[in-house]
Amino acid sequence: MNKKTIEDIKVKGQPVLVRVDFNVPQDDTGRITDDRRIRAALPTINYLREHGARVILTSHLGRPKGVTPKYTLAPVARHLAELIKSPVPLLPDCLGEEVERKTAAMHDGEVVLLENVRFHPEEEKNDPAFAAGLAKLAKIYVNDAFGTAHRAHASTEGVAHIIPGVAGYLMKKELAYLGDALGNPKRPFIAILGGAKVKDKIGVIEQLMGKVDRLIIGGGMAYTFFKAQGYEIGKSLLDETSLDFCRQTLAKAGDKLLLPVDVVIGDANPFDVGPDSVKSQVVTAESIPSDWQGVDIGPETIRKFSQAVQGAGTVVWNGPMGIFEFERFAVGTRAIAKALAQSGAVTIVGGGDSAAAVEQLGFAEKMTHISTGGGASLEFLEGKILPGVAALQDR
Ligand code: AMP
Repeated sequence: MNKKTIEDIKVKGQPVLVRVDFNVPQDDTGRITDDRRIRAALPTINYLREHGARVILTSHLGRPKGVTPKYTLAPVARHLAELIKSPVPLLPDCLGEEVERKTAAMHDGEVVLLENVRFHPEEEKNDPAFAAGLAKLAKIYVNDAFGTAHRAHASTEGVAHIIPGVAGYLMKKELAYLGDALGNPKRPFIAILGGAKVKDKIGVIEQLMGKVDRLIIGGGMAYTFFKAQGYEIGKSLLDETSLDFCRQTLAKAGDKLLLPVDVVIGDANPFDVGPDSVKSQVVTAESIPSDWQGVDIGPETIRKFSQAVQGAGTVVWNGPMGIFEFERFAVGTRAIAKALAQSGAVTIVGGGDSAAAVEQLGFAEKMTHISTGGGASLEFLEGKILPGVAALQDR
């Protein structure tokens, strides 16, 4: 990576503004149900504390419209304090006079958390005056929020134009794994894409097609490819606007592209009627009845996809193979997670649903890298420059 990191600068005695991604899921009582993103930021936070920095953390949580008590970072501050075994006061805002006073009074090695940066609409607008207000709190900026690095917001990008910005350990690690997978993969290099919409992944498919030895497409995306081949897909997911793209990809890809050969279909959408009320059966890909819909990949497909993964040197996976939210239709997604875990390949799981599935199914320890960023990892795989990374200082 050609960007400076926290190890390249002197942090002792300095107020350091650290953008982290503490956008963690919570239940109705405010209990954090998955603290992976908080734990992933600990190496950076601990390094800065141990080296005498004054650590001022900033993050967003959810999509609040203005100040919304439900989206306070208070539970996160409490949880982080337990993890680092040291107090983490939550300041009442992310900028302004009181916050300036409190951060100016910090001692070396102390940590504070600023309140949800998205309580201000100026954050997502990358408003220069707002970015200046954040920058005023510190001498150095550290970006460790890979999950939002694809967004040019005030706290992820704007602030790095005002005070010098460097990468934290999580950012460095994400870029190293994803960068190596794309730039210097151990071959055969296989990519597996799933999820709902082809449209969201056109850029990734185009980019990966030129790099991988095999591109496997499953999940809801596969049905638009089936339709492009002239198959009946019944009520399965169809992304009409991507039909031409699928036709072109099929024509170009030849053997490189692997699609499901059989699918599990249901007589209704499990989200509409509940999973237990859905009648299901396995059919070949080209024989979906007109009033049924695809909900998972079939057993023969699982066997083929798993076999392809067995011989791989590198596997990148993004997107579930079926409606994995329901146990009954998570069979394909689980089988792919297991195949990756057993493959011996360098395995990289894009964030979002596939990362959640791998965690849930207990295969997390077996993967080489699970990205903390869904959208960011996809944009990276598309070959796009992430604005939050571009704004950091070059080495
Ligand atoms: P994405 O956000 O594009 O990665 O898509 C994730 C969503 O795709 C999940 O909510 C899955 O339920 C959904 N999905 C995966 N396979 C299918 C399918 N065969 N039919 C409908 N939805 C699917």
